[in-house]
Amino acid sequence: MPQNPIQFQPGMSLTEFTQNYGTEAQCEAALLRSRWPEGFVCPDCGGRAHSTFVADGRQYWQCSHCRSQHTLCSGTLFHASKLPLTTWFQALYLVTQNKNCISALSLKRHLGVSYRTAWRVKHKLLEAMAEREDRRRLDGVVVADDAYLGGKRAGKRGRGSENKVPFVAAVELDEDGHPQHVRFDPIADLKAASVVDWARQALEPTVQLVTDGLASLGAAAAVVATHGAIIVTPRQSSDLEPFRWVNTFIANLKTAMRGTYHHFKFNKYTHRYLGEAQYRVNRRFDLHSLVGCLLHTCARTAPCPEHWLRLAVARAA
Ligand SMILES: [Zn+2]
Repeated sequence: MPQNPIQFQPGMSLTEFTQNYGTEAQCEAALLRSRWPEGFVCPDCGGRAHSTFVADGRQYWQCSHCRSQHTLCSGTLFHASKLPLTTWFQALYLVTQNKNCISALSLKRHLGVSYRTAWRVKHKLLEAMAEREDRRRLDGVVVADDAYLGGKRAGKRGRGSENKVPFVAAVELDEDGHPQHVRFDPIADLKAASVVDWARQALEPTVQLVTDGLASLGAAAAVVATHGAIIVTPRQSSDLEPFRWVNTFIANLKTAMRGTYHHFKFNKYTHRYLGEAQYRVNRRFDLHSLVGCLLHTCARTAPCPEHWLRLAVARAA
């Protein structure tokens, strides 16, 4: 059986990770390079002129223009965290280099922290990934289908099971029909208004959209350049071009989540779980650089306090 080049790519070995990010000083230097690659830029006014000083063992950057003071972590996802950066980097490694999603319980064991801390770390990283991916708009030829997390597609749709969450999977294909980017979005229901809202958020207006003619995504036709509806019977759906890729991604996503989140209710944090999956799929060609990539994302994500993380419900609902 031929090896799948994406599945068998080398990634980052634990040895290499430890050599690069094994000490607090290495992690600080990596975050500094990632946050301010061209040197300090004031988060408040954009000024570059600054002075630095050390107080209580911590380095501060003071903007010469607006006089505001900043630490390396202030204003980033790592803001006000009591954890050393080495622990955060280990979490970046575990979240990105695992084939499947990693549970907060596994993270707790690997990092040697409390469950609550592991939960917080994990959800902050997921939030950073989801926010980064939220801005993505698919363009060109896009194939979309609806699916459910936590339940099978057949049966009562959205009823009888609070754990069953509908979402839309959309795949952008290149001229040869190869998948480029994806979006996975929670959707409140499949009524026309919700589908139109989804299409406005997920797709460029120039998109050529292909959907299953029997499913309910046809309402998106109102906001895209062209729309093709192909009638797909349940028996055909997994094989029929062009639905092959969207079905493959839906199946992979369910497999990755099934082993990890089976005890959890999906519905409260669906946008974060789907955001993580989307982030990883859209960077699937370069597993090795994913640690640096997620670091870059975290350095540009606003702080997420725990009470906010626990309150946040699906944005698209
Ligand atoms: Zn400033």
